[in-house]
Amino acid sequence: MLSARGLSVRYGRSVEALSGVDLEVPADGVLAVLGGNGAGKSTLLRAVSGTLPLHRGAVSAGEIVFDGERIDRLDPALIVRAGVVAVPEGRQVFARMTVEENLRAGGLGARSAEARSSARERIERLFPVLTERAGQRAGLLSGGEQQMLAIGRALMSDPRLLLLDEPSLGLAPQMVGRIARVIREIHEQGTAVVLVEQNATMALQVADHAVVLEVGRVALSGPAAELAASDDVQRLYLGGHAESQAQAESEEAEARAHRSTRTLSRWTG
Ligand code: ATP
Repeated sequence: MLSARGLSVRYGRSVEALSGVDLEVPADGVLAVLGGNGAGKSTLLRAVSGTLPLHRGAVSAGEIVFDGERIDRLDPALIVRAGVVAVPEGRQVFARMTVEENLRAGGLGARSAEARSSARERIERLFPVLTERAGQRAGLLSGGEQQMLAIGRALMSDPRLLLLDEPSLGLAPQMVGRIARVIREIHEQGTAVVLVEQNATMALQVADHAVVLEVGRVALSGPAAELAASDDVQRLYLGGHAESQAQAESEEAEARAHRSTRTLSRWTG
């Protein structure tokens, strides 16, 4: 559905934030994009959503193709029309507007009135809390509810590909679990997702495929389950490999037992 080939992005003249990135998002798939601070994850989403110029950035090489059409030179509004909608980092809702008004604002990008009303029903099923709080100002919602509203607002334009930038950032573990379930459900309903996350544990549970960016380049890519089991990903992003850690611990215990037996046999002759 979406592919990037040899994608390079620059900010101004000196900063090359992405260099020769290749990736694929299959139709109805979830692609996780992992990487540390400054790896280029948000830059990738800006390139796909056409918003690089707002950040003084530009695609300097390569191409992005969505559903057979190049979109890397398109205006952001046309990219939304084509069916690619982004939820930027930081739960950006219109704080002074009500939940209902936020959702209606999201619906302005819908292709038709029918698409808008079926998107509305979908959001009611996914996020009952937003219906309960329809008349409340968005700024008064909890962090998790604001994240749901930000995702709901994006869904109002009935996207075929949803771009999520760090939806778990700053949320309590229970809320991260809810957001993860919602992403799976959105995907099962037929919307492809690109999920940028620093929370690799959550992202690899939700995604089918993943890429790991390091200083603007793809360092690793493959099926999410394979990456979750890889030692490099475990060590760098998941806080150590449980199995190899257990093995190291048992080897250390064995060595200690061996040393103490030797010490003991020295004393006992
Ligand atoms: P984080 O997880 O911290 O958001 P990231 O992986 O999303 O990091 P990006 O924000 O895409 O990384 O940044 C990639 C590189 O581009 C970094 O070196 C960053 O300093 C640089 N960069 C990002 N935005 C700009 C900008 N508007 N102008 C200049 N350099 C930028």
